Amino acid sequence: MQVKILGSAAGGAFPQWNCGCPNCRGVRAGKFPGKARTQTQVAFSADSRTWFLLGASPDLRAQIEATPDLHPKEGLRQSPIAGAVLLNADVDHVLGLLLMRELQPLRVYATDSIRNIVTQDNSMFAMLQRIPEQASWTSFAPGSTFGLSDPSGRDSGIRCRAISLGHHFPAYVSRERRSSLAGGDASLGLIVESPAGKRLAYMPAVPEINDELLKEFELADVLMFDGTFWSDDELIRIQGSGQSARQMGHVPLSGGDGSLARLARLKRPRKIYIHINNTNPVLNEAGPEHRELLEQGWELAEDGWQFDL
Ligand SMILES: [Zn+2]
Repeated sequence: MQVKILGSAAGGAFPQWNCGCPNCRGVRAGKFPGKARTQTQVAFSADSRTWFLLGASPDLRAQIEATPDLHPKEGLRQSPIAGAVLLNADVDHVLGLLLMRELQPLRVYATDSIRNIVTQDNSMFAMLQRIPEQASWTSFAPGSTFGLSDPSGRDSGIRCRAISLGHHFPAYVSRERRSSLAGGDASLGLIVESPAGKRLAYMPAVPEINDELLKEFELADVLMFDGTFWSDDELIRIQGSGQSARQMGHVPLSGGDGSLARLARLKRPRKIYIHINNTNPVLNEAGPEHRELLEQGWELAEDGWQFDL
């Protein structure tokens, strides 16, 4: 299975359009010892011809153009992108679906709650349902294993299993809708198993690390983990107000119960931080936080990375 990291930043990307934090200013000025990044997007394929997306980022159009394997291969209208697995209903994670509205057949995998939010409450997404063969939705439940097929129904050989991580739905979801949703459907991590039995654990939004998750991570070959914030009060310190990292559903990297400390004993998987917020000091490759991350055996995802699994 081939895996491609098309984007590695958190929502807003790096730099973020309205952000004047030291990182964003530095990268705009061309003086920053680190790289700009688009919003988090991962794609994977078992046969190098049929690709599946993890979510659909607002930067998807540019990410596809930057990735020749995702360009049309034959005929006037075609795409190697067969489908997407949705792990939450955040704008950063689903907006890209609207960028694939040109009547291209697509299979979309989601929990019932996320599907209902997207298709029933946001009428613009009807652009994906203009003809019967366009987006075909497949429901999955957290905990159960499901296979990925292309729009014609051909099995890719890839198996997935979602893990409930958070119970918070996006702020745009109405109170009435919330009352009809299953909390465990709100925010998920995904275990992707290749036809050869290799495992990718994709966990871009983890509010808390528990023993159950640690067991999952020990069975993974590659772990892509929540690299959103370095410290719990990172945004509050920069903005002067706001929510802590944990309140936003992201365990920070630093601190005694941060992810660097809690995952230090993980031996098996290759460990990659992804979904990095533009305020995170690890983006500065000359800084002590970046050095600490590398010393602890972690990598910091960059746009354009790819590997086989
Ligand atoms: Zn910034």
